[in-house]
Amino acid sequence: MLSYRHAFHAGNHADVLKHFVLHQVLAYANQKDKPYWYIDTHAGAGMYALDHGYAVQNAEFEQGIARLWECNDLPDSLQSFIELIKHINRGKALKHYPGSPAVAQELLRGSDRARLFELHPSDVKLLRQHFKPAGREVLVEQQDGFAGLKALLPPPPRRAVVLIDPPYEEKRDYQRVIEALKDSLQRFATGTYLLWYPLLQRPEVDLLTDRLAKLGAASWLHATLSIHAPAADGFGMHGSGMFVINPPWTLPDTLQQTLPYLAEKLALDDGAGYALRHHTP
Ligand code: SAM
Repeated sequence: MLSYRHAFHAGNHADVLKHFVLHQVLAYANQKDKPYWYIDTHAGAGMYALDHGYAVQNAEFEQGIARLWECNDLPDSLQSFIELIKHINRGKALKHYPGSPAVAQELLRGSDRARLFELHPSDVKLLRQHFKPAGREVLVEQQDGFAGLKALLPPPPRRAVVLIDPPYEEKRDYQRVIEALKDSLQRFATGTYLLWYPLLQRPEVDLLTDRLAKLGAASWLHATLSIHAPAADGFGMHGSGMFVINPPWTLPDTLQQTLPYLAEKLALDDGAGYALRHHTP
């Protein structure tokens, strides 16, 4: 079932959390000269228009990136992420928002490689168009990202940052992300894995967070950001979470400085907030 289109959600609070963390992880990876692979199991379309098309229908970006766009009191770490989005918009009005592959594209160096998986026929076409000028350093595959990931690990340079970001429209995604992380840790224990998931009032989400903590990864970080209280009728996404295995040692401090700011700026009511847990051996 491929009904999900990320363009409806581009630039919302969940994208801001996910892409900010991705930006931090890649910037840290760039501190070492050694090349790495960036693997995106559910890549989406790559780049999204915010001034026409699907994104304007619900205008979710107005409760996300647009709230940070004009802020002049950004914490340093968030400032560099917003500068990336401004660079994409050529310093002008906010009209474009990058998907995860385009965020990565801004950070990857000549020797790094990107391996992008996307199943939706329209989005994979857009993704290919976006990366057309790129050479062998970016490969786009219209393939199941879980299977694609399995085939790539361990990556030749023995360094990788992996983003796992499924739509969770099918319940089995909750199970598949756990299986993918378990398998990936067996194949390549030292990779950095970023998993995004929605905060919903559903038993699958509670089970997922329990299972993540029990994966047995030596080092992990778990951050959540909610923008409003869970709805009384039990429906809807009130926030999202990022679970990072083998995070940069700097990431807990960076998030400790940034999450309170994000929770305040993106809050829609008093139920907004954040949580941060970090585990080291
Ligand atoms: N990672 C993107 C970003 O941050 O910009 C957003 C990805 S969106 C949440 C999930 C994407 O996964 C959708 O574009 C959907 O078509 C695609 N998809 C769904 N199932 C898939 C699968 N098994 N393998 C690869 N892509 C899949």
